[in-house]
Amino acid sequence: MTSLFQALDAETGDFRAHGLCAQTDPEVFFPESGSAAAAKRVCLACSVRRECLEYAIEHGERGVWGGTSEKQRTAIRRVRTKDAAA
Ligand code: SF4
Repeated sequence: MTSLFQALDAETGDFRAHGLCAQTDPEVFFPESGSAAAAKRVCLACSVRRECLEYAIEHGERGVWGGTSEKQRTAIRRVRTKDAAA
């Protein structure tokens, strides 16, 4: 699994420097079975949330990115695919 920081370094180092998660325990963003609420709260205040979300949608990342869970991003992808086909 690509870590949040590795991915941001590799492709979008520009927004990593502004991500609030850089100041937060990374484990919070990859909850095994617990709630993702703590990570989502951090993301809500993050200035690069949109860039982060688009990156995660494009790359199929796991964990919380851009204030969304993997399941939520899957739903976004589904809607976009459906809209593009219409
Ligand atoms: S939106 Fe969330 S996961 Fe993305 S850079 Fe900001 S704090 Fe990190």
